[in-house]
Amino acid sequence: MTRSESDVLHGAQHSADDLDQRAVAWIRDRLTGTGVGVLGERAWLDKNLAGSITDKGLGVADAWKVFTDVVAPNNIGVDSDRFLAFIPLSPSVASVWMDAVCSAANFGAESWFEGAGAVSAENQVIDLLIRSAGTPAGAAGCFMSGGSIGNLSALAVARDQAPGRRVVVVADTAHASVDNALHILGLEALEVPTGPDCRLTGEAIRATVGERRDIAAVVAAGGSTNAGVVDDLATCADAAEELNAWFHVDGAYGLTAMLLPELRARFNGIERADSFIVDPHKWMFAPAGSCALVYKQPWLARAVHTQHGPYIDVLRTDDDAYNPCDLGYQLTRRSSGLPVWFALALHGLDAHRSAIRCGLALAKRMAAALDACPITELVMQPELGVVLFRRDGWGKSEWGDWAAALLRDGIAFVAPSTYRGEPIGRLVFMHPSTPDSIVDELMASLTGDSLVGDTAR
Ligand SMILES: *Cc1c(COP(=O)(O)O)cnc(C)c1O
Repeated sequence: MTRSESDVLHGAQHSADDLDQRAVAWIRDRLTGTGVGVLGERAWLDKNLAGSITDKGLGVADAWKVFTDVVAPNNIGVDSDRFLAFIPLSPSVASVWMDAVCSAANFGAESWFEGAGAVSAENQVIDLLIRSAGTPAGAAGCFMSGGSIGNLSALAVARDQAPGRRVVVVADTAHASVDNALHILGLEALEVPTGPDCRLTGEAIRATVGERRDIAAVVAAGGSTNAGVVDDLATCADAAEELNAWFHVDGAYGLTAMLLPELRARFNGIERADSFIVDPHKWMFAPAGSCALVYKQPWLARAVHTQHGPYIDVLRTDDDAYNPCDLGYQLTRRSSGLPVWFALALHGLDAHRSAIRCGLALAKRMAAALDACPITELVMQPELGVVLFRRDGWGKSEWGDWAAALLRDGIAFVAPSTYRGEPIGRLVFMHPSTPDSIVDELMASLTGDSLVGDTAR
């Protein structure tokens, strides 16, 4: 047997048989929509997956059966149009297929040298964000795998611009990944309390900072995760400037809303950010694993993130080489911006804007229904797609029962939250296919006692 004949993993001799047809059929079906899913049980999963890796392999039919019977059904449908928790995912059909193509192609998106075509296409999206934000000429960016890596990468650059200053101003509403990044980078968070509206302002920053002059960076949110509130970016930028500090905007969840002309003014001040991030896998309808990271002065990022070594310096024969890996923490990387570019190229911006508006409209409808109901109350009017609310007499355990009942009945996947320590209901509307009827279904679950009563019994 020659070496190539013995390789069943690749090429003409592969023994994956009709896996292609199975996979395509599965993906097609998934793209017609999926339910809320289930919470997997560890013991059952362990038992049913034990022995699935053998010396000789199970073959296509059996391996695929384990996937379809054991693995696939035991997850929450994060991409379901009834997933209303955390920040949902709602990848477009076009972006999913292009993501599958990227899996096959493995474009070397870490460097221009390997992946010029893919990186160029990704940069079309980066340029769109730069234009939309109004970041001055010279700005550039890259895609990373997610907002956490994006925040870490940007804050690493911020740190190195302020030697000796170790303190970073963050809102009490900042995403947990910001705190994690600061910890990893050896920086210290100075937490600024936001008011009842959960909005960080320059005034609040000044009040907390006082006379301190050891601030390296100010982090604001272009849509906070828990409440979907856009910080007052313009006054935060003023405060950062006064402190001679880096200004980073974490727009992982909400910054895509700046693509809507009617919402652009809410993000005023974004043009002054030294760095900002957007997660296209959130409100730009891309598959999981993408973050667009932009720097006003990308050369500062290059000085921090460029990796050196005898095997890698070839990537930088040209001083101007556009290597995404020089701008962020990740080296080998999927071309996670390519599906974003492709869906934008295929459908255009307007279709994406309309899809964003669906979530905004549904959040408004839900808010109106909660407002009109005597036993429910909004914590605040939704600014983006997040709705926070109270229900008379409900505390932590009732919210938990409510979430369990909605999941059990396949109505929605929700995750209760807190507002200033108080247990509350939280819903996030994003998926353009979420049916309008969900408002009535959710109101019934909050007002009629049948749903929650059943679980509690
Ligand atoms: C989701 C989110 C993050 C983290 O992004 P990942 O892609 O999950 O790593 C950071 N900041 C904000 C505001 C977010 O909503």
